[in-house]
Amino acid sequence: MQTRYAVVGAGLAGASTARRLAADGEEVTLIERGRPADPLGSSHGSARILRYAYPDRLSVELMAAARPGWEELEARGGRRLLTPTGALDHGEVRDPRQLADVLEQVGVEHELLSARQAAARWPMHSFDTEVLWHPDAAVLDAESTVETMVELAVDDGARLLTGRQVELVERAGSGFRLTSADGERIEAERVIVCAGGWLPALLRRLPVPSGFLPALHGITVRQEQAFHFPHRPEHREPDSPEEQPGTQTRWPTFIHQSPEMTTYGLPGGRDADFAGQKVAEYDGGPVIDSAAAQDRRVDPENRRRVVDFVRRRLPGAEPTPYAETTCLFTTTPDANFLMDSWDGLTVISPCSGHGAKFAPLIGEMAAGLAAGDVARHRPVPEAFRADRRIG
Ligand SMILES: Cc1cc2nc3c(=O)[nH]c(=O)nc-3n(C[C@H](O)[C@H](O)[C@H](O)COP(=O)(O)OP(=O)(O)OC[C@H]3O[C@@H](n4cnc5c(N)ncnc54)[C@H](O)[C@@H]3O)c2cc1C
Repeated sequence: MQTRYAVVGAGLAGASTARRLAADGEEVTLIERGRPADPLGSSHGSARILRYAYPDRLSVELMAAARPGWEELEARGGRRLLTPTGALDHGEVRDPRQLADVLEQVGVEHELLSARQAAARWPMHSFDTEVLWHPDAAVLDAESTVETMVELAVDDGARLLTGRQVELVERAGSGFRLTSADGERIEAERVIVCAGGWLPALLRRLPVPSGFLPALHGITVRQEQAFHFPHRPEHREPDSPEEQPGTQTRWPTFIHQSPEMTTYGLPGGRDADFAGQKVAEYDGGPVIDSAAAQDRRVDPENRRRVVDFVRRRLPGAEPTPYAETTCLFTTTPDANFLMDSWDGLTVISPCSGHGAKFAPLIGEMAAGLAAGDVARHRPVPEAFRADRRIG
């Protein structure tokens, strides 16, 4: 089989890249070892935070640039992907005032509140510092987003191959040969690898120039864990978002950062019957050798830490999880994404546990990088290059 572009991996990154290339009229084959938004990857399930609050201006600007892509995706796909929630940031290390300064510079609507003002508005939380609120935050449905992007790509002529694990990518003539586990071969002019947590194990079977490998080997993979806590009766959402599409939830998303831990939470959505708040410790799961080493077991110590947080900081939730899950986190040492290209081979990893919200923009940047056409697409920031200085 021959193709102009082969995209490896149909998570948010690969689906978005294939969708963009197909929309540009390119011939694309999207190859996935399992199925789109695979349950073993990072893009499954119904709930990820879409927020603007970041301590650096670049991330806030990228989020602002990504947002129109979400609206376009919802309109083109005819499916609701975002639930408006607004977001809270608090805790001594989170530094809400500094985050507010950056939102102000970029022109994102926000309010900085005292702990007492915030407690009056969100009694389901307990605050011990100033609190940043920004109303344009939302929860995004990761799995429906992948499905929508793949459907649109296929409508525009992309070929989707599922159950096909790429084992080796070699240079062949002026292009590449991809060999999968079942021995099938695909000849491609250009290859974009969006393999998520499988990337570190795949690296030695990609023709990446050796000078870049030390940087790429800095990527770690974690088995992150998340817990769903029921709302107390007086703090329940009045209607499920399915009954009231587009209305803002009563419970906002949040990030709390203390010297001990970083904790985030969001309405869990369809994954847990719209009945509670999903709460997790950022980078709280164990580091594993590779995606294949996942055992999907929840660490009792991590559960204890998150339950303790809910007891102290979320009085509107019962501190007993009614559901729990694990998920794959891919992390770079500086928490920035990885997007680079070497003579027709492009590697994309919107990792470090915060890539979902940028998904439409990631595909656009990846398509431009792979096509060598930055005039039509937003260029990839230097901060995402593999040879950047980290630390
Ligand atoms: C618990 C959790 C919470 C998160 N919360 C947030 C959040 O609140 N906000 C936010 O913005 N982001 C969040 N993220 C991060 C976000 O979900 C990820 O950045 C994003 O899903 C990464 O997508 P990906 O396409 O790079 O990887 P993946 O979704 O893992 O996709 C990679 C795909 O490649 C396939 N694949 C791998 N190897 C091969 C191969 N050799 N051949 C063929 N196919 C292959 C895999 O099966 C998989 O489907 C969270 C992630 C997790 C795990």
